[in-house]
Amino acid sequence: WLSITGGFTSFDETTTYFSGLVMDITEQKKNELKRSKFIGMVSHELKTPLTALKAYVQMLGNWAQKQKDNFAVGALSKVDKQVRKMLNMINSLLNLSSAEVGKIHINKQTFSLDNLLKEVVEETLFITSSHHITVAPCDNIEINADRDKIEQVLVNLLSNAAKYSDKGSAIYVTCSREEHKVVIGIQDEGMGITEEAVEKVFLPHYRVESKETEKVTGFGIGLYLCSEIIQRHDGKIWVDSEIGKGSTFKFILPIA
Ligand code: ADP
Repeated sequence: WLSITGGFTSFDETTTYFSGLVMDITEQKKNELKRSKFIGMVSHELKTPLTALKAYVQMLGNWAQKQKDNFAVGALSKVDKQVRKMLNMINSLLNLSSAEVGKIHINKQTFSLDNLLKEVVEETLFITSSHHITVAPCDNIEINADRDKIEQVLVNLLSNAAKYSDKGSAIYVTCSREEHKVVIGIQDEGMGITEEAVEKVFLPHYRVESKETEKVTGFGIGLYLCSEIIQRHDGKIWVDSEIGKGSTFKFILPIA
């Protein structure tokens, strides 16, 4: 594998010059392939027991309903929701190879952003419960997009905001309308990202290597998937960050 960066210049009609840099990135590519193969294998292995778990939880849920045991019905429906989330995450990991060739399937519908944000905040409570979350109202904005995929983007960004900041710190979710677009922001008071890394966090398998981040587990795939999903909606995603102060991830989507 060779990486070629540079450009062509013509000084006359017969000669064109190339100036630039040619780098051998075979090792890097090999490592990337190894990592995605490993992730694919692990995801596949996790999918089988989770699918069985989902079936048993549903069976127990039906049984609890017949017994009219409201507590069990409620608890089992929560377990069912979390198992579904895990299966969704695993499916995204398995989908990575197709994402790499730009084949994420987008299934659009019109939905309310306020409802989606409410759901996402409830869903991620098990990760964000030690933080103070403030969600600004979206003024009944409705968008036409793939609801599950945008949910995935929000879950990733909110979980990251909690993962890469201290317990007790604040997370703000904001929503603002700009003509035919909506801008959604997720701001944290965490460790921040260096200027150099800000350029790279949306690349597949990229993780910042530092003393602070090595305590946090991850595959370096979440933000890559977010950027693929947002691009497939003709939107844009980026991050503003300052080391030690925090990060604000923002994305723009067209309004229905
Ligand atoms: P993961 O969190 O699984 O490593 P992501 O693709 O979600 O993968 O993020 C890529 C990298 O970007 C992370 O490893 C982390 O170094 C950095 N990062 C993401 N979100 C934040 C954040 N809110 N604050 C600081 N760093 C972040």
